[in-house]
Amino acid sequence: MKFNFSAGPAMLPAPVLKKAQKELCDWQGLGISVMEISHRDPIYVRMTEEAEQDLRDLMSIPDNYTVLFMHGGGRGQFSAVPQNLAKPDATVDYLDSGIWSQFAIREAAKYVQQVNLVAKVTETAAGKAIPQVSDWQLSENAAYLHYCPNETVDGIALHTVPDVSVPVVADMSSVILAEPIDVSQFGLIYAGAQKNIGPSGFAVVIVRNDLIAETCQDKVCTVMNYKVQAADKSMYNTPNTFAWYLAAEVFKWLKAEGGVEAMADLNQRKAALLYECIDNSSFYRNTVAIANRSRMNVPFQLRDDALDAVFLREAEAEGLMSLKGHRFVGGMRASMYNAMPFAGAQALVDFMTRFEKQYS
Ligand SMILES: *Cc1c(COP(=O)(O)O)cnc(C)c1O
Repeated sequence: MKFNFSAGPAMLPAPVLKKAQKELCDWQGLGISVMEISHRDPIYVRMTEEAEQDLRDLMSIPDNYTVLFMHGGGRGQFSAVPQNLAKPDATVDYLDSGIWSQFAIREAAKYVQQVNLVAKVTETAAGKAIPQVSDWQLSENAAYLHYCPNETVDGIALHTVPDVSVPVVADMSSVILAEPIDVSQFGLIYAGAQKNIGPSGFAVVIVRNDLIAETCQDKVCTVMNYKVQAADKSMYNTPNTFAWYLAAEVFKWLKAEGGVEAMADLNQRKAALLYECIDNSSFYRNTVAIANRSRMNVPFQLRDDALDAVFLREAEAEGLMSLKGHRFVGGMRASMYNAMPFAGAQALVDFMTRFEKQYS
């Protein structure tokens, strides 16, 4: 039994992979693969419509929002968002809560004149923390406020939606469908698929209709143009048909598992177990303030980093895979998205407890 703690591309639900395997060469009795038919075939179109409806049901997406299935993963949206939502001479507000925020900020600066940083992570007595929204330096009339609710690399999360007067844009790549949210609090939500939805290179965008009524920049890359993609039902050009199909299967699996509420409960229990193990030991540590801890990605360090390689080798020998931290931050990181069963978190904690006894 392997438990894959990869941050992304990440573990997918085993029943979804088994079903995909079973129907790989014969999809819906057609005798050919889902990858081999036209995206305009009524059978394929019906699948995409069901996928959208399932996502709408799972997230209770209001009718005045459009759902787009797009190319280019999370980073594609780093450029699509400013191109579509801000004029070149606009000001846009960005929270810097970690590495992914910083990439998004750098990309936005190519398309808009003024990228205003509202706040960044600070070191506090309680650990790394995101300042209170009341302390953010919001600009007067930003086109939007962008933030990343769950920083995948840093393991830092903002668990409340900033209450501001401009449209809120959220990079939910590593937290979409992991807990219930109120979509109406957002102007736009996007997510690269490879953490909680399906294969990489694919992205989901949920955007309030009034924000796509007019495209702000004259020259938006057409595949990234929300207005065009909305009009063409995300089929302006050939979509990633296999990724869309797999996402549709993940949505069905989620519904059968009890939806986003059930996932939130499971994710809460997995994260609590692991943080408890870390906090009760002097061998492991996590440096994020409790209020800003991620439930999806848990970075931790060993007291003696000379043991890192041994830890990773022994973990892997027990089927606990991909625990190495991001190359920017080092240490360890356990990513536990929806597909990670509770038994995976338990196996990790059991291993960590034994490892600590042996090496401390
Ligand atoms: C993984 C990730 C991305 C990047 O996604 P790509 O599909 O590789 O472009 C962006 N933002 C967040 C928060 C992520 O976790």
